[in-house]
Amino acid sequence: MIIVKVGGSAGIDYDAVCADIAALWKEGQRLVLVHGGSGETNRVSEALGHPPRFVTSPSGYTSRFTDRETLEIFEMVYCGKMNKGIVERLQRLGVNAVGLSGLDGRIFEGRHKDSVRAVENGKVKVLRGDHTGTVEKVNTGLIELLLNAGYLPVLTPPASSYEGVAINVDGDRASAALAVALRAEALLLLSNVPGLLRAFPDESSLIREIPAGDVESYLEFAQDRMKKKVLGAAEAVQGGVGRVVFGDARQAQPVRAALGGAGTVVA
Ligand code: ADP
Repeated sequence: MIIVKVGGSAGIDYDAVCADIAALWKEGQRLVLVHGGSGETNRVSEALGHPPRFVTSPSGYTSRFTDRETLEIFEMVYCGKMNKGIVERLQRLGVNAVGLSGLDGRIFEGRHKDSVRAVENGKVKVLRGDHTGTVEKVNTGLIELLLNAGYLPVLTPPASSYEGVAINVDGDRASAALAVALRAEALLLLSNVPGLLRAFPDESSLIREIPAGDVESYLEFAQDRMKKKVLGAAEAVQGGVGRVVFGDARQAQPVRAALGGAGTVVA
Protein backbone atom coordinates (compact mmCIF):
# COMPACT_ATOMS: atom_id res chain seq x y z
CA MET A 1 0.00 0.00 0.00
CA ILE A 2 1.27 3.46 -0.87
CA ILE A 3 -0.25 6.85 -0.10
CA VAL A 4 0.35 9.59 -2.66
CA LYS A 5 -0.39 13.16 -1.59
CA VAL A 6 -0.25 15.79 -4.30
CA GLY A 7 -0.26 19.42 -3.18
CA GLY A 8 -2.06 22.44 -4.47
CA SER A 9 0.75 24.81 -5.37
CA ALA A 10 1.41 26.43 -8.74
CA GLY A 11 3.25 24.32 -11.28
CA ILE A 12 1.99 20.88 -10.26
CA ASP A 13 1.28 18.69 -13.31
CA TYR A 14 -1.95 16.87 -12.38
CA ASP A 15 -2.09 15.16 -15.79
CA ALA A 16 1.33 13.62 -15.16
CA VAL A 17 0.38 12.60 -11.59
CA CYS A 18 -2.87 10.97 -12.76
CA ALA A 19 -1.24 9.19 -15.72
CA ASP A 20 1.42 7.75 -13.42
CA ILE A 21 -1.14 6.74 -10.78
CA ALA A 22 -3.37 5.09 -13.40
CA ALA A 23 -0.44 3.06 -14.76
CA LEU A 24 0.63 1.90 -11.29
CA TRP A 25 -2.96 1.06 -10.35
CA LYS A 26 -3.35 -1.07 -13.49
CA GLU A 27 -0.14 -2.89 -12.54
CA GLY A 28 -1.90 -3.87 -9.31
CA GLN A 29 -0.39 -1.34 -6.90
CA ARG A 30 -2.78 -0.70 -3.98
CA LEU A 31 -2.84 3.03 -3.37
CA VAL A 32 -4.84 5.98 -2.09
CA LEU A 33 -4.49 9.49 -3.53
CA VAL A 34 -4.87 12.58 -1.33
CA HIS A 35 -4.76 16.09 -2.78
CA GLY A 36 -4.63 19.74 -1.79
CA GLY A 37 -5.86 22.90 -3.46
CA SER A 38 -4.37 25.90 -1.70
CA GLY A 39 -3.28 27.82 -4.80
CA GLU A 40 -6.69 27.58 -6.47
CA THR A 41 -8.47 28.37 -3.17
CA ASN A 42 -6.47 31.59 -2.89
CA ARG A 43 -7.41 32.55 -6.45
CA VAL A 44 -11.13 31.80 -5.98
CA SER A 45 -11.22 33.52 -2.56
CA GLU A 46 -9.83 36.70 -4.13
CA ALA A 47 -12.33 36.46 -7.01
CA LEU A 48 -15.23 36.09 -4.54
CA GLY A 49 -14.10 39.14 -2.57
CA HIS A 50 -13.06 37.17 0.53
CA PRO A 51 -9.24 37.15 0.26
CA PRO A 52 -7.30 34.47 2.17
CA ARG A 53 -5.93 35.29 5.59
CA PHE A 54 -2.83 33.42 6.69
CA VAL A 55 -1.79 33.43 10.32
CA THR A 56 1.51 32.45 11.89
CA SER A 57 1.51 30.77 15.29
CA PRO A 58 4.04 31.82 17.98
CA SER A 59 5.99 28.63 17.14
CA GLY A 60 6.26 29.67 13.48
CA TYR A 61 3.63 27.52 11.73
CA THR A 62 1.58 29.23 9.04
CA SER A 63 -2.05 28.25 8.45
CA ARG A 64 -5.15 29.53 6.70
CA PHE A 65 -7.56 31.26 9.08
CA THR A 66 -10.79 29.45 8.21
CA ASP A 67 -13.95 31.31 9.16
CA ARG A 68 -17.27 29.87 7.95
CA GLU A 69 -17.19 31.71 4.62
CA THR A 70 -13.61 30.61 3.98
CA LEU A 71 -14.58 27.03 4.82
CA GLU A 72 -17.35 27.14 2.22
CA ILE A 73 -14.99 28.49 -0.46
CA PHE A 74 -12.41 25.88 0.61
CA GLU A 75 -15.01 23.13 0.12
CA MET A 76 -16.02 24.47 -3.30
CA VAL A 77 -12.44 24.27 -4.48
CA TYR A 78 -11.08 21.19 -2.70
CA CYS A 79 -14.18 18.94 -2.80
CA GLY A 80 -15.52 20.43 -6.03
CA LYS A 81 -13.11 21.66 -8.66
CA MET A 82 -9.91 19.94 -7.51
CA ASN A 83 -11.40 16.61 -6.41
CA LYS A 84 -13.67 16.19 -9.44
CA GLY A 85 -10.90 17.34 -11.78
CA ILE A 86 -8.66 14.55 -10.52
CA VAL A 87 -11.47 11.94 -10.51
CA GLU A 88 -12.35 12.91 -14.10
CA ARG A 89 -8.72 12.57 -15.23
CA LEU A 90 -8.53 9.09 -13.65
CA GLN A 91 -11.87 8.04 -15.13
CA ARG A 92 -10.66 9.08 -18.60
CA LEU A 93 -7.61 6.90 -18.00
CA GLY A 94 -9.87 3.92 -17.23
CA VAL A 95 -9.53 3.94 -13.44
CA ASN A 96 -12.70 3.79 -11.38
CA ALA A 97 -11.82 6.55 -8.91
CA VAL A 98 -14.15 7.69 -6.11
CA GLY A 99 -13.63 11.20 -4.73
CA LEU A 100 -14.48 11.83 -1.09
CA SER A 101 -13.66 14.44 1.51
CA GLY A 102 -12.64 13.60 5.05
CA LEU A 103 -16.13 14.62 6.10
CA ASP A 104 -17.71 11.81 4.05
CA GLY A 105 -18.06 8.74 6.24
CA ARG A 106 -15.83 10.56 8.73
CA ILE A 107 -12.79 9.32 6.83
CA PHE A 108 -10.72 11.97 8.64
CA GLU A 109 -11.85 12.85 12.14
CA GLY A 110 -10.32 15.13 14.75
CA ARG A 111 -10.74 17.81 17.36
CA HIS A 112 -12.15 21.19 16.32
CA LYS A 113 -9.96 24.12 17.33
CA ASP A 114 -12.15 27.21 17.42
CA SER A 115 -9.42 29.66 18.33
CA VAL A 116 -5.90 30.13 17.08
CA ARG A 117 -2.97 32.03 18.55
CA ALA A 118 -1.42 34.24 15.92
CA VAL A 119 1.44 36.70 15.82
CA GLU A 120 0.34 39.96 14.19
CA ASN A 121 2.45 43.13 14.22
CA GLY A 122 4.75 41.56 16.79
CA LYS A 123 1.89 40.79 19.21
CA VAL A 124 0.26 37.45 20.03
CA LYS A 125 -3.51 37.58 19.45
CA VAL A 126 -6.23 34.98 19.95
CA LEU A 127 -8.48 34.71 16.89
CA ARG A 128 -11.87 32.99 17.33
CA GLY A 129 -14.26 31.41 14.82
CA ASP A 130 -11.58 29.22 13.23
CA HIS A 131 -12.73 25.95 11.63
CA THR A 132 -9.51 24.02 11.87
CA GLY A 133 -8.18 20.93 13.58
CA THR A 134 -5.85 17.96 13.33
CA VAL A 135 -6.73 14.45 12.16
CA GLU A 136 -6.65 12.00 15.05
CA LYS A 137 -8.77 9.16 13.66
CA VAL A 138 -9.08 7.56 10.21
CA ASN A 139 -12.03 5.47 9.03
CA THR A 140 -9.91 2.74 7.44
CA GLY A 141 -13.00 0.49 7.12
CA LEU A 142 -14.50 2.73 4.43
CA ILE A 143 -11.19 3.04 2.54
CA GLU A 144 -10.69 -0.73 2.59
CA LEU A 145 -14.28 -1.29 1.48
CA LEU A 146 -13.58 0.83 -1.60
CA LEU A 147 -10.16 -0.67 -2.31
CA ASN A 148 -11.45 -4.24 -1.93
CA ALA A 149 -14.27 -3.47 -4.36
CA GLY A 150 -11.78 -2.15 -6.95
CA TYR A 151 -12.25 1.61 -6.47
CA LEU A 152 -9.37 4.05 -6.15
CA PRO A 153 -10.10 6.51 -3.31
CA VAL A 154 -9.25 10.17 -4.02
CA LEU A 155 -9.38 12.03 -0.70
CA THR A 156 -9.29 15.67 0.32
CA PRO A 157 -9.74 17.87 3.40
CA PRO A 158 -11.87 19.03 5.18
CA ALA A 159 -12.18 16.53 8.01
CA SER A 160 -15.06 16.04 10.41
CA SER A 161 -14.83 17.17 14.03
CA TYR A 162 -16.07 14.73 16.68
CA GLU A 163 -19.28 16.86 16.71
CA GLY A 164 -19.67 16.50 12.94
CA VAL A 165 -18.51 20.02 12.04
CA ALA A 166 -16.31 20.44 8.95
CA ILE A 167 -12.76 21.42 9.86
CA ASN A 168 -9.85 22.48 7.70
CA VAL A 169 -6.93 20.14 8.32
CA ASP A 170 -3.44 20.05 6.89
CA GLY A 171 -3.35 17.64 3.94
CA ASP A 172 0.21 16.47 4.56
CA ARG A 173 -0.46 15.54 8.17
CA ALA A 174 -3.83 13.97 7.25
CA SER A 175 -1.97 11.84 4.69
CA ALA A 176 0.55 10.86 7.35
CA ALA A 177 -2.29 9.75 9.67
CA LEU A 178 -3.81 7.79 6.77
CA ALA A 179 -0.49 6.14 5.93
CA VAL A 180 -0.02 5.09 9.57
CA ALA A 181 -3.61 3.80 9.86
CA LEU A 182 -3.32 1.77 6.64
CA ARG A 183 0.21 0.56 7.52
CA ALA A 184 1.49 1.91 4.21
CA GLU A 185 4.99 1.04 3.09
CA ALA A 186 5.48 4.49 1.60
CA LEU A 187 4.03 8.00 1.78
CA LEU A 188 4.87 10.28 -1.15
CA LEU A 189 4.36 14.02 -0.56
CA LEU A 190 4.49 15.61 -4.02
CA SER A 191 4.72 19.36 -4.44
CA ASN A 192 6.30 22.06 -6.65
CA VAL A 193 9.84 21.75 -5.27
CA PRO A 194 12.43 18.97 -5.79
CA GLY A 195 12.22 18.08 -2.09
CA LEU A 196 13.39 19.69 1.14
CA LEU A 197 15.95 22.34 0.24
CA ARG A 198 18.72 23.26 2.65
CA ALA A 199 18.72 26.81 1.26
CA PHE A 200 15.26 27.44 -0.24
CA PRO A 201 14.75 28.41 -3.11
CA ASP A 202 18.13 27.11 -4.33
CA GLU A 203 17.14 23.82 -5.96
CA SER A 204 20.74 22.59 -5.99
CA SER A 205 20.62 22.50 -2.17
CA LEU A 206 18.34 19.42 -2.15
CA ILE A 207 18.62 17.27 0.96
CA ARG A 208 18.63 13.70 -0.37
CA GLU A 209 18.22 11.69 2.81
CA ILE A 210 16.88 12.25 6.30
CA PRO A 211 17.36 9.53 8.92
CA ALA A 212 13.99 8.47 10.40
CA GLY A 213 15.16 9.10 13.95
CA ASP A 214 16.25 12.65 13.25
CA VAL A 215 13.45 14.24 11.19
CA GLU A 216 12.56 17.05 13.60
CA SER A 217 16.07 18.47 13.47
CA TYR A 218 15.45 19.21 9.77
CA LEU A 219 12.54 21.52 10.63
CA GLU A 220 15.05 24.37 10.75
CA PHE A 221 15.46 24.22 6.94
CA ALA A 222 11.71 24.40 6.24
CA GLN A 223 9.86 27.67 6.13
CA ASP A 224 6.11 28.26 6.33
CA ARG A 225 4.09 25.41 4.82
CA MET A 226 7.06 23.12 4.25
CA LYS A 227 7.22 22.73 8.04
CA LYS A 228 3.96 20.75 7.98
CA LYS A 229 5.46 18.30 5.49
CA VAL A 230 8.47 17.69 7.71
CA LEU A 231 6.18 17.28 10.71
CA GLY A 232 3.93 14.90 8.75
CA ALA A 233 6.98 12.88 7.70
CA ALA A 234 8.10 12.58 11.33
CA GLU A 235 4.61 11.43 12.37
CA ALA A 236 4.48 8.87 9.56
CA VAL A 237 7.87 7.22 10.15
CA GLN A 238 7.35 7.26 13.93
CA GLY A 239 3.99 5.57 13.27
CA GLY A 240 5.62 2.73 11.31
CA VAL A 241 5.45 3.90 7.68
CA GLY A 242 8.48 2.48 5.85
CA ARG A 243 9.55 5.68 4.12
CA VAL A 244 8.35 9.16 3.24
CA VAL A 245 9.52 10.92 0.08
CA PHE A 246 9.18 14.66 -0.65
CA GLY A 247 8.97 14.57 -4.44
CA ASP A 248 8.53 16.92 -7.39
CA ALA A 249 5.14 16.93 -9.17
CA ARG A 250 6.21 19.28 -11.97
CA GLN A 251 7.72 16.51 -14.10
CA ALA A 252 6.69 13.40 -16.05
CA GLN A 253 6.18 10.21 -13.99
CA PRO A 254 6.36 12.05 -10.64
CA VAL A 255 5.06 9.10 -8.62
CA ARG A 256 7.52 6.58 -10.07
CA ALA A 257 10.36 9.05 -9.64
CA ALA A 258 9.55 9.53 -5.93
CA LEU A 259 9.11 5.77 -5.46
CA GLY A 260 12.52 5.34 -7.04
CA GLY A 261 14.04 7.68 -4.46
CA ALA A 262 14.17 11.01 -6.37
CA GLY A 263 13.65 13.90 -3.95
CA THR A 264 14.17 13.82 -0.20
CA VAL A 265 13.85 10.34 1.29
CA VAL A 266 12.99 10.02 4.97
CA ALA A 267 13.67 6.47 6.17
P1 ADP B 1 1.62 21.86 -1.51
O1 ADP B 1 0.40 22.72 -1.39
O2 ADP B 1 2.02 21.62 -2.92
O3 ADP B 1 1.57 20.63 -0.70
P2 ADP B 1 3.04 23.76 0.09
O4 ADP B 1 2.90 25.06 -0.64
O5 ADP B 1 2.21 23.49 1.27
O6 ADP B 1 2.89 22.62 -0.96
O7 ADP B 1 4.57 23.55 0.50
C1 ADP B 1 5.59 23.60 -0.47
C2 ADP B 1 6.23 24.98 -0.46
O8 ADP B 1 7.06 25.12 0.70
C3 ADP B 1 7.18 25.23 -1.60
O9 ADP B 1 6.50 25.68 -2.76
C4 ADP B 1 8.11 26.32 -1.04
O10 ADP B 1 7.62 27.59 -1.40
C5 ADP B 1 7.97 26.18 0.47
N1 ADP B 1 9.23 25.91 1.18
C6 ADP B 1 9.61 26.53 2.32
N2 ADP B 1 10.79 26.09 2.75
C7 ADP B 1 11.20 25.14 1.89
C8 ADP B 1 12.36 24.31 1.82
N3 ADP B 1 13.35 24.38 2.73
N4 ADP B 1 12.44 23.42 0.80
C9 ADP B 1 11.44 23.34 -0.11
N5 ADP B 1 10.33 24.12 -0.10
C10 ADP B 1 10.20 25.01 0.88
